[in-house]
Amino acid sequence: MQPENAHQARVLTSLRRNGPQAAVELAAQLSLSRSKIGQELARLEEMGFVERAGKAESRGGRRSGLVQLSGRLRFVGVDIGATSLDVGVIDGRLDIVAQTSEVIDIEAGPEPILCRAVEMIGKLRAAGHLPTLDGIGVGVPGPVSFRDGFTVSPPIMPGWDRFPVREHIMQQFECPVLVDNDVNLMAVGEMYSGLAQSVADFLFVKIGTGIGCGIVTGHRVLRGSNGSAGDVGHIALHDTGPVCRCGRTGCLEACFSGAALSRDATALARGGESPGLRELLAGRDVLTAEDVGVAMRAGDPQALGLVRDGGRRLGRVLSGLVNFCNPAMIVVGGGVSKLGHVLLAEVRSELYRRSTPLATSNLPIVLSELGDNAGILGAAAMISDHVLGVPPES
Ligand SMILES: [Zn+2]
Repeated sequence: MQPENAHQARVLTSLRRNGPQAAVELAAQLSLSRSKIGQELARLEEMGFVERAGKAESRGGRRSGLVQLSGRLRFVGVDIGATSLDVGVIDGRLDIVAQTSEVIDIEAGPEPILCRAVEMIGKLRAAGHLPTLDGIGVGVPGPVSFRDGFTVSPPIMPGWDRFPVREHIMQQFECPVLVDNDVNLMAVGEMYSGLAQSVADFLFVKIGTGIGCGIVTGHRVLRGSNGSAGDVGHIALHDTGPVCRCGRTGCLEACFSGAALSRDATALARGGESPGLRELLAGRDVLTAEDVGVAMRAGDPQALGLVRDGGRRLGRVLSGLVNFCNPAMIVVGGGVSKLGHVLLAEVRSELYRRSTPLATSNLPIVLSELGDNAGILGAAAMISDHVLGVPPES
C-alpha cells in the first residue's frame, strides 16, 4: 500500500519529520483547506498509515485532535555484510524496535544467505515485532543496479552477479522491496539517525574488509550511472604495490583496509619484527584488524605504524574527494574504524595538509556513532521513504 496522491505523501512526510500534529496545523503547512486535509487524513487512516493521537495542548480555544503515523507501521532493514547478516525492524519514525544478527560467509552464495535473512524476519514476526510489514530494504556489499534490484559484478561475492535479490525477497513477503549497496545505505542511516543529520552534503567512509564511500549531495545518495559511485577502495595510490582483489595493483584497499591490515600484521608477526603481534598470532593462522588495535593499544610500535600509515593513505584519497566535492562532513564507520582516534588523527592531518583551505575550513571528520546499526537503519529508511512517498529534504 502506498499513498494515493502527492497531498497524502506530503502529510506522511510531515508527520514523520515533525511528529504528531493537529489537522489545522497540517492544513496550514501544506496550504490545503481544512475539508481537503480532513478527507486525505480519513483516507490515510483507512489505509493504516495514520491514527488519532489524543488532543493538542489547549491554547485557550478548542482543543484539536492530533494525528500521527500509525504505531503499527513497520519496515525491515537487512544488512548483508561479507561476514555478518543484520536484520532490524523500525517503526514509522525510524526508531529501531528489534534487531538480530548472525555470522555468515558471503561466499556461501545468495540462496542460503537470503534464506537465512527470510528466516530471521520470520522469527521477528513470530516474536510480535511485525504487526504489519510495510516494506523491506536490503543492503549488499557490492555494486548494485538499483533499478533492477540485483548486484552487478561484485568482486567478493561469487554467485551473486545479477542474482535477483529483490525478486527473491518479494516472493517471500508480499511487500515493496528495494536493494542498494551497503555503504550507500549506511550513509542513509547517518543522514537520518546519525551525526550527518544536520548537513546536506557529506561523505560516509566505510572501512571494513574493503573500503567504500557513500556520497550524499543535497540529501540524496549519488549512485552514478551504473551504481558504482563511491567505489573509492580502488582509487590507485601507487603504480606498483600490493595486488588488489580487483586484479590491479596499488589500489587504496590493497594498501589499507581490514584485509590489508590482516595481511601486513600477520607478516610482521611471522617475521618476528613485532613481539606484540607475534604473541597474538600464537596458535592461529592469521591476525585480524582487531588484533592490530589490541597490539596498538598495548603500545606495540609496529602495530601503531600500520595504523598511522593506513590513516595517511586514506587521508590522501579523501583529500582528493574533498577537493572534488566539498562535503560539509566526513563520517567514518565500519569495523576497522574501531581503531578510533589514532586512525582519525592521521586521516585528519593528511587531509588538511593536502586539501584546499576553503574545502577544509569547518570540515568535521568524525567517527560514526551508529556503529553496526547504520546499515539496518539506512536500509529500512530507504524503503520507508519509498513506501510513504517521502522526498529528499531540500
Ligand atoms: Zn582494487
